[in-house]
Amino acid sequence: MSSWEEDYASFCKRTDKHYKDRLMAILALGLCAEAGEVAGELNKAQRGKSFSAFSIAHELGDVLWFLTRMADECGYTLRDLAELNAGKLKRRATAQPRETDPEP
Ligand SMILES: [Mg+2]
Repeated sequence: MSSWEEDYASFCKRTDKHYKDRLMAILALGLCAEAGEVAGELNKAQRGKSFSAFSIAHELGDVLWFLTRMADECGYTLRDLAELNAGKLKRRATAQPRETDPEP
């Protein structure tokens, strides 16, 4: 039985129509672009327009899709990423960084 993150990664892969020969570059740029769309929604609010948590949730979903695809192409699940990040943050909180931990 597969986990929800494995099921979601499979769904994302099935819906990925990007060019395979440049996949990682396209995914990385897509991830940045979608993060920019999240910032764009917040920018609207800064200019006095209405804040839409629903619109931000949709853009975060787009970020999640690209993040999931990149992680999957690297052989990781979303759970793996969460565990790696939590471990890094816990070590940092106790001031015991490992040399292999990248900067934030
Ligand atoms: Mg979007």
